[in-house]
Amino acid sequence: YQPKYRLRQRRVSGAEALLRWKHPERGMVAPEEFIPVLEETGLIVPVSEWVIKRACHDVRAWRSAGFNVPVSVNLSARQFRLPALHERIKALVASSGVDPKLIELEITESQLMQDPHHAILVMRALCDAGMRIAIDDFGTGYSSLAYLTRFPIDALKIDRSFVQDMVRDKTIVRTIVEMAHTLGYTVIAEGVETEEQATLLHRLRCEQAQGYLFAQPMAADNIERLCADGPR
Ligand code: C2E
Ligand code: MG
Ligand code: MG
Repeated sequence: YQPKYRLRQRRVSGAEALLRWKHPERGMVAPEEFIPVLEETGLIVPVSEWVIKRACHDVRAWRSAGFNVPVSVNLSARQFRLPALHERIKALVASSGVDPKLIELEITESQLMQDPHHAILVMRALCDAGMRIAIDDFGTGYSSLAYLTRFPIDALKIDRSFVQDMVRDKTIVRTIVEMAHTLGYTVIAEGVETEEQATLLHRLRCEQAQGYLFAQPMAADNIERLCADGPR
């Protein structure tokens, strides 16, 4: 999990589940390498369900340690196209006993645009079940702004590339934040690596940030420790 931080208080606001494969010979394999293979073979479906189950389990464990940490789970393109996706997710969350409000699903802009009509139906169903929806890697997927207002979105995650460029030119980030707020969405900046970026993002009214400046992805029990820590 990689924690997300609220930029105002500099405290943990949630955690994103990031899948890792511990290979016996190759060591830790990055998701960019194995997720395309899971998608090709169809294994992404059971693996993603395991991720959701595991995330719900960890949310409960954090809760019993005294911390209410919302969790975000990435959905793959292939999973998103499954007809019964929202039913499966709803059932998994319900059987875990976790409050659906603590579950956020991240969908990339390009996934949404592959079949926007289907996407609207799935997102509505998840949203009606009380879960939150975030658009991942925002700004890289050529989304139609006309569609954007029709999706039941809670958060936009600004892609790392814009955050990297921000110190040179903050126009894009500023514009995304303003547009998101006008539409009623909260904003999360991805890949924040420097204090300068964090300060600038806060000044531009971006609410949350994620990145190596705050924390690297880590095992579930370390999240509790960070929650117990004071502000970063
Ligand atoms: P993402 O959802 O956009 O996740 C952000 C990626 O940026 C993560 O890479 C994270 O480790 C990395 N990152 C975070 N902070 C920084 C930073 O400050 N600097 C830099 N350079 N990188 C940072 P990771 O863990 O390798 O994941 C890559 C992608 O794989 C994810 O992008 C997501 O699209 C996908 N993925 C990961 N876990 C899952 C999963 O369970 N299911 C599905 N469908 N996709 C997943
Ligand atoms: Mg993500
Ligand atoms: Mg991203």
